[in-house]
Amino acid sequence: MTEISHSKGSRKDCVAALLARHWKSVRAYTSLCAAGAASESRLQTCAAQSFLAEVIHYAHPPVVRPHLLRAVRVAAEAGVDGDDVVLDAALHDAIRSRRSGIQPDRRLAERAFRALPAVTQTLLWHLHVEREDIATVAVLIGLPEVTAAAEAARSRGLLLQRCLEIHAEEAPYPECSRYSRLLLASLNRPVSGDVNTHISRCWHCRTAVQQFDHSDTMLPSLLAQAVLGWGAQDYLRVRWSVRPAPAAAARGRHRPPEAATRGRHRR
Ligand SMILES: [Zn+2]
Repeated sequence: MTEISHSKGSRKDCVAALLARHWKSVRAYTSLCAAGAASESRLQTCAAQSFLAEVIHYAHPPVVRPHLLRAVRVAAEAGVDGDDVVLDAALHDAIRSRRSGIQPDRRLAERAFRALPAVTQTLLWHLHVEREDIATVAVLIGLPEVTAAAEAARSRGLLLQRCLEIHAEEAPYPECSRYSRLLLASLNRPVSGDVNTHISRCWHCRTAVQQFDHSDTMLPSLLAQAVLGWGAQDYLRVRWSVRPAPAAAARGRHRPPEAATRGRHRR
């Protein structure tokens, strides 16, 4: 079951209802990407057209929210040299210097996320990035809340499994695959000197370790960076400003994105 297959009515009505449901998020991201209401509106239109084309032409329609947000950034990149859209200056500079897309050290997570079933992607995105509760997300995917909760409990494991598989598939050296589980373990405990030496020398493994960290603190940023590219942290900040922290955050397991990424580059 996906959000699109679960939707009722004609395709036209279905698309209209889905766009209405996700429009606040699209507006939040376009307000970051564009300078001025006219340019924001232009990016929103491009995102809606991209979504409509995907729904009409492909057998496996996209996961709605991530697709729409990604389409905004792609539209901004396409319009950087045109007269129709005035972009945020930082985004403009990032596009010109080829830094607006998914950064190399987040491509493993990007591939892993996109390879997951649509239900899993929807749960991960809406629970951890948008901070919606399980009852709300269950309605999106048309599952009973208890079933959605069970799927949500499996979702981080599925993401991690895919990350480990892709890390092994793309390993540049034989020892990268051998060390895969030890790299994961290094997040929680000291590992042998051989593994640390390898991490210090191997960019593939060093960046994989960062992308294996799916803790409450890191997962929202990782997903946003793996889907949006430019503006991920600002998108989280804007969305979380109108969203009460979930129960986990109240127990101190969440940190705001600014704290989670202190000392890192703006993404
Ligand atoms: Zn390696």
